Amino acid sequence: MNAATTCSTVLPLLSAWVDGRLAADAADRVRGHLPECPRCAASVEGLLIVADATATLLAPGTPVARRRTDERPGRFDGAIERLVIRRRRVLSRLVRRLLARRWLRREGEATSASAAADDRTSVARSRAVLEELVDLDSDPSGDGARLVAAIDPLGTSEAWHGAMAALRSFEASAPLAPPLPAPEDGPDARARWARDELEAAPVGDDVV
Ligand SMILES: [Zn+2]
Repeated sequence: MNAATTCSTVLPLLSAWVDGRLAADAADRVRGHLPECPRCAASVEGLLIVADATATLLAPGTPVARRRTDERPGRFDGAIERLVIRRRRVLSRLVRRLLARRWLRREGEATSASAAADDRTSVARSRAVLEELVDLDSDPSGDGARLVAAIDPLGTSEAWHGAMAALRSFEASAPLAPPLPAPEDGPDARARWARDELEAAPVGDDVV
């Protein structure tokens, strides 16, 4: 642990840390500092409340039950749990958008010229988010690791359905909106979901 880590060096990093945009060494400094500092932990809690509220506004179907507003701000345990929930939602959303774009392209629907680049960014960011989850010891069941493994490679129809199955079980305890297509749903229902997903998803910096 870096003995020189203080509130004044950590506070400017917290927003980027909550959004998963910090480099690994800086993220380590933040993680090392939070358990020792109620003040910075409270700041993380505040950032998460704002981020959750923003995500809910941008995605009206998001269940509010998971916002845990009953928790007293400033509790570090609460902050880390909220961060885990947010990390899982970001990972879910990245994979959803990747699968939605892939499905529409498979069906011959025109997607934006940058869709292939978005796919590569989604896969890279999904790996980074998973690393954060593992660092937070929040993937004991390994469903996050299975999900990230399932999206690479994603070249065949079987691979797409396998990734969707992994996503379904990853989201089982905390589904997002719109609902994922069921295994028995046909191509039309999958295409409808894909279009809804690309339209309804939050457009903040937590998704690509
Ligand atoms: Zn501090």
